[in-house]
Amino acid sequence: MSNFTYKSPSLVALAAFLVSPLLFTTVTAADIASAIEPTLKSVDAKVIDWRRDFHQNPELSNRETRTSKIVAEHLKKLGLEVETGIAKTGVVALLRTGKPGPTIALRADMDALPVTERADVPFRSTAKANYRGEEVGVMHACGHDSHTAVLMGVAEVLVKRKADLRGNVLFVFQPAEEGAPPGEVGGANEMVKAGILDKYKPEVMFGWHAWSSLRTGEIGYRSGPFFADSNAWRMVVTGRQAHGSAPWKGVDPIVVAAQIITNVQTVISRQVDLTDIPAVFSVGIIKGGVRNNIIPDSVELIGTMRTFSAAQKAQVAAAVTRMAQNTAEASGATAEFKLEAYSNPVTVNNEALTEKMLPSLRRVAGDDKVKRIPLVTGSEDFAYFANKIPGFYFVVGVTPADQDPVTAPVNHSPLFYLDEAAIPLATRAMTAAAVDYLLN
Ligand SMILES: [Zn+2]
Ligand SMILES: [Zn+2]
Repeated sequence: MSNFTYKSPSLVALAAFLVSPLLFTTVTAADIASAIEPTLKSVDAKVIDWRRDFHQNPELSNRETRTSKIVAEHLKKLGLEVETGIAKTGVVALLRTGKPGPTIALRADMDALPVTERADVPFRSTAKANYRGEEVGVMHACGHDSHTAVLMGVAEVLVKRKADLRGNVLFVFQPAEEGAPPGEVGGANEMVKAGILDKYKPEVMFGWHAWSSLRTGEIGYRSGPFFADSNAWRMVVTGRQAHGSAPWKGVDPIVVAAQIITNVQTVISRQVDLTDIPAVFSVGIIKGGVRNNIIPDSVELIGTMRTFSAAQKAQVAAAVTRMAQNTAEASGATAEFKLEAYSNPVTVNNEALTEKMLPSLRRVAGDDKVKRIPLVTGSEDFAYFANKIPGFYFVVGVTPADQDPVTAPVNHSPLFYLDEAAIPLATRAMTAAAVDYLLN
């Protein structure tokens, strides 16, 4: 525990009342955190209301205009310095306590997904939008509605308790965590490029995610690599077009593509050290041919690759290239494999920072509720921030007690269900992390 001595008369009295029969005592960060509880209680209902409103009015990546307007108005009302329109719809706001201390950043993402909601909630989304030229349902199927609402609540709490704090807090509301629409850029990387870290110089950043694989009341974390590097890839297998009745007069890229798809499975199962760290290589699209009796010239394969370190990423990419090229060559075809330029890097939790912040999470959730969880092969663009400054990212369980988190609909499912009872814990976890870091 910190032995930081802080002299706010009202707070000292309150903290002393809470923790000690003596009127004047050493006030620790933990005392301040518990003294903040009434302030947290005063925002709990508002956070739920904001979240329901965002849930019912979801917006796709890079289209978060309504959401960001509500966020910005709230932050302005709190008296913060607010910047809007960063990386399209991003909003940042700075809380200055006026006392020397570190600057920290707290992050939320605001976007929803092209998913038609089937969850049975009274504030179910019926929103529609155009995505890739098609009309689609829009749903907060990843829980970013709760991230945004919680951070609005945390901002209100920290502003109200400003006198108890020191240093500065940067609130970061970013667009497009799920990835910008085709032809656009977006998300955390663009917020970084827009210079928010250079301008405000936070020394650490915290973020969280609503998590269906944990129960309400639980918090999951990992030190070091946590979420995977996610990289889309494209492969073109080229043969020689021929009549379907006479394949020997050409080179059949469909058969070669089938062999490549089978052979590359052995890259992960036979060439990656799975006792060290896993990797995933999946094919999502096979495109080739136009007619039953024409062997096409080429076949295009598209998929995703998930890795947990730069070295592993290079190894898997090289092994897939080798396997594809040599398989193709064996039949007289060629194969060209390329990783797409844009990817989400590995989300790495800074180890020292993780150690430092775990007591805060344990205090708000309970020791037995804070769990080290398995690696996540999904990705998270918080990685762009955590690559620049030490980051700590955790997940908060949202599956209610009467459901099994193993079989509960996962994030991105049209049935994804976020137990609202989980939200106050998220607000407390982010607040505790912020307060403890500022005062320790
Ligand atoms: Zn998502
Ligand atoms: Zn998400």
